[in-house]
Amino acid sequence: MKNVIVVGSGAGGATVARELAKNRIKVTLLEKGCSTPVDKAHQYYDNLDVGVELLKTTCLGGTTLVTAGNAVRTCQEEFKEMGINLENEFQEVEGELNVGTLPDTHFGEGTLRIMEASSVLGLPMEKMFKSINPHECIPCGMCALGCPRNAKWSSLKYLEEAEKLGVKIIDNSQVTQITTNNGHVTGVCSHDKKYSADLVILCAGAIETPRLLRSAGITAGKKLFVDTFVTVGGVLEDINFYKEVSMNALYKGDGFILAPHYSGLLTSRLEKQGFSESDILGMMVKIKDEGSGCVGEDAVVKNNTSHDAGLLAEGSALAGAILTEAGVDPSTIISTPARGAHPGGTAAIGEVVDRNLETEIRGLYVCDASVFPSAPGAPPVLTILALAKRLGKHISHYTKKHA
Ligand SMILES: Cc1cc2nc3c(=O)[nH]c(=O)nc-3n(C[C@H](O)[C@H](O)[C@H](O)COP(=O)(O)OP(=O)(O)OC[C@H]3O[C@@H](n4cnc5c(N)ncnc54)[C@H](O)[C@@H]3O)c2cc1C
Repeated sequence: MKNVIVVGSGAGGATVARELAKNRIKVTLLEKGCSTPVDKAHQYYDNLDVGVELLKTTCLGGTTLVTAGNAVRTCQEEFKEMGINLENEFQEVEGELNVGTLPDTHFGEGTLRIMEASSVLGLPMEKMFKSINPHECIPCGMCALGCPRNAKWSSLKYLEEAEKLGVKIIDNSQVTQITTNNGHVTGVCSHDKKYSADLVILCAGAIETPRLLRSAGITAGKKLFVDTFVTVGGVLEDINFYKEVSMNALYKGDGFILAPHYSGLLTSRLEKQGFSESDILGMMVKIKDEGSGCVGEDAVVKNNTSHDAGLLAEGSALAGAILTEAGVDPSTIISTPARGAHPGGTAAIGEVVDRNLETEIRGLYVCDASVFPSAPGAPPVLTILALAKRLGKHISHYTKKHA
């Protein structure tokens, strides 16, 4: 019987661990962070200044605890062209997460104004697909802090199921080294503790996974993308948009998306002019950025290229026009600095892993956002889950065949 170690408990790790356990494979999952109630997840932001501010959380459940619950298919065609058909896995995941748009009761005035204004300008928005249970969700604008009602899917839900199926989950255990012998993986080290395994699946996210790969002698860490975003916003008095469901609608541009979005960074600048959070209406401009960054041993660098700057400018101009049409005072419109919340690309398929997500070291796999060949420019969780399910099935099939 194969003995598998999964490193990291976010989108990729929780899903692949659960999938393997469903097929009676022995799994131990090691997570660097600690276990936390969902509503305290904001205490575990572990952001990096890499040229843009890079947002991620280090805790059980990883960055899935602070998502906006957006659940859209990304890169499906791109993967298909590489011979990776995710259609069945997408369907399974969408069913398990009850993906759908929220009912009208969950659309606030600010979002509706933005949708109406976009339509007037010939830029029609669609409702965003979400993995949020509308019966549990009372719109409060706190998705990115950790849902106070646990109404949103996070990988904690898969981890609970995985544990019931026998997965041993060990938190507060940072994996520091991969061990190998003769081109085969043999296990991992967490500081001075050794764990042996037949297979190791790295799901530590696009910043930590390439560092672990390098500990096994594999070159990784180039071509980092982050889906750079800014939030553009201004004053529409008493709109109370900050309490609405974040990013509840979507406009797909060429290389960027626009979505209604509140950021406290806008308020901290506009309150100097006497306005408060209740007076701000905003939109996120998120781009499909170039993989121009790189993860080094001690530093991460991701500066935006001129191509990225062009997309940000184009999206911001449209966002400004929509907000003005929606009633925002144009003289108050400002933008946040550039940030990124979707790091990926640092162990890409075709470069660092093959189509089965295996590295050049037999039995060493990668299953997180690192394997994306290019930036999705849109929420990646659903796609990471689909890839992780596919890997779980692949390993289970292989294990049964060689049992
Ligand atoms: C504010 C915010 C909102 C977002 N909203 C959305 C959204 O609505 N929809 C969407 O699709 N995406 C969203 N995202 C992006 C999404 O959360 C990430 O793309 C996704 O979680 C990445 O999955 P992953 O498996 O690569 O990494 P993660 O989910 O970050 O998991 C990596 C895990 O590995 C652990 N780890 C790291 N190093 C080690 C180590 N050495 N040993 C052991 N464990 C380790 C970490 O603690 C973490 O638990 C959002 C991100 C942010 C920051």
